[in-house]
Amino acid sequence: MTAHSLSPDVLDALEGAVGRNGLTAEPAGMAKYLGDWAGDYRGGALAVLRPASVAEVQASMRLCGALGLGVIPQGGNTGLVSGAIDTNGAGMVVVSLERLNAIRQIDPENFTLQTDAGCVLQTIKDASEAQDCLFPLALGAQGSCQIGGNAASNAGGVNVLRYGMARDLILGLEVVLADGELWNGFSGLRKNNSGYDLKQLFIGSEGTLGIITGVEVRLFPKPARTETAYLGLASFEAAIALFNRARRDCCDLISAFEIIGSECIELARLIDPAVTEPVSAPVQVLIELSSGPTIDLNGVLAGFLGDAMKKGLVSDAVLATSGAQAKTFWAIREGLVEGQAKRGYHVRTDLSVRISDMPALIERARRFVALEHRGWIPLAYGHAGDGNIHFNVLPPLALGESEARSRGAEVTAGLYDIAVNLGGSISAEHGIGRSRRREFWDGLSPTHRRMVTALKTAFDPNGMMNPGCLLPSTETFS
Ligand SMILES: Cc1cc2nc3c(=O)[nH]c(=O)nc-3n(C[C@H](O)[C@H](O)[C@H](O)COP(=O)(O)OP(=O)(O)OC[C@H]3O[C@@H](n4cnc5c(N)ncnc54)[C@H](O)[C@@H]3O)c2cc1C
Repeated sequence: MTAHSLSPDVLDALEGAVGRNGLTAEPAGMAKYLGDWAGDYRGGALAVLRPASVAEVQASMRLCGALGLGVIPQGGNTGLVSGAIDTNGAGMVVVSLERLNAIRQIDPENFTLQTDAGCVLQTIKDASEAQDCLFPLALGAQGSCQIGGNAASNAGGVNVLRYGMARDLILGLEVVLADGELWNGFSGLRKNNSGYDLKQLFIGSEGTLGIITGVEVRLFPKPARTETAYLGLASFEAAIALFNRARRDCCDLISAFEIIGSECIELARLIDPAVTEPVSAPVQVLIELSSGPTIDLNGVLAGFLGDAMKKGLVSDAVLATSGAQAKTFWAIREGLVEGQAKRGYHVRTDLSVRISDMPALIERARRFVALEHRGWIPLAYGHAGDGNIHFNVLPPLALGESEARSRGAEVTAGLYDIAVNLGGSISAEHGIGRSRRREFWDGLSPTHRRMVTALKTAFDPNGMMNPGCLLPSTETFS
């Protein structure tokens, strides 16, 4: 079905809901809403609606419900599991939140912020900082992803270790339900133990239960001090041993502990050829500590690292002497993700295991690729402090794209098996979307499926919310 499947009457009605500036139904205008960030998929849509107010979101939902149109909520479209695009091009309407983007209120005394859901994460972080506060959600896509998308995907990122995932940072939500009704779940309260915590159902629901139009988040005092170091280690086992040591010696001062296999550095160079390795070692770790003004943070980090070097856990270490140098360390971590997308199609995973099982996961995954997919290049990096590894695999450059994709599906299945056999999860933080819905559904017990189906049916009885995302499809729930 194409955009031209909508009759002029329906287009007029949609324009009535969101105004002339809020409706796009021409292929050229819709193009940027229909492809995913990684370039893996191009989808289709009947139209893109861009409501500029909560009332326009409500009108859109009522109209789409009456017309029997499926709705795909879309934030910054930076998701990595095709949740915000219709990969089949089967004829749904994308509702983009990008025009609903104002910060509504910041309360530095209560450490809370209320915002429209379409506000870009970086804007929220900047506004918080201007009030001497910190909103700690931090991820490579923060310049484009929206807080509503972060809530809907329960985003993680580099500071989960200290501050938790989006789920832990959200105090309240405002949601337009499938029938157009508005639920205001803002309270400003940190403790509110009265009945079901409904906001938690929408967090991580990936647009399948309603459209989030407003988000209320927790803020924290802005750390006065931050220390960053880039370390070289001999192995992933050493990295996990170091993390355990760091947890005990530095306690909650650690705000990030990222692991980077040295094979990833080449990818960061695809984005910035000037990137140099701060240390030369097979496994590298980016560690960040942050605190208030009264703690000798540099002394804590230097003491910890000196001890780790004496014990032979760390072979080389560079402590950033300025914020600018720390940024160059982070540029490696962020650049390698973009570098993979630039290189082209690749197998992308987001595995989670118990922290102590991470070396086994990486070792088994590498052996599997070496034995069964000769010539493919494994990469391992991730938020190791959370037991979250992105074990990605690059196809040989000589392989044609369609063969790479079909072989890639086998590689992915093998990696999922390895994680599941270790008692892990196939989605640590990116979600299920359309890319992992089959594996997700197949892995659920009958009881779990029954509860998921009951929830979906209660909130979205006609199956109009993001059909085909998270759940296999509206017809095959059972
Ligand atoms: C370079 C890069 C680095 C990344 N790093 C991380 C990382 O470290 N950790 C991490 O967790 N993720 C990461 N991601 C993935 C992605 O940025 C996050 O999942 C992000 O939270 C998605 O936000 P978005 O606004 O782009 O949502 P979208 O991609 O637009 O949508 C994601 C899902 O949420 C739904 N949705 C969006 N907005 C709403 C709404 N208002 N109401 C209801 N449903 C909605 C969509 O339907 C879709 O299912 C990264 C992505 C990139 C490109």
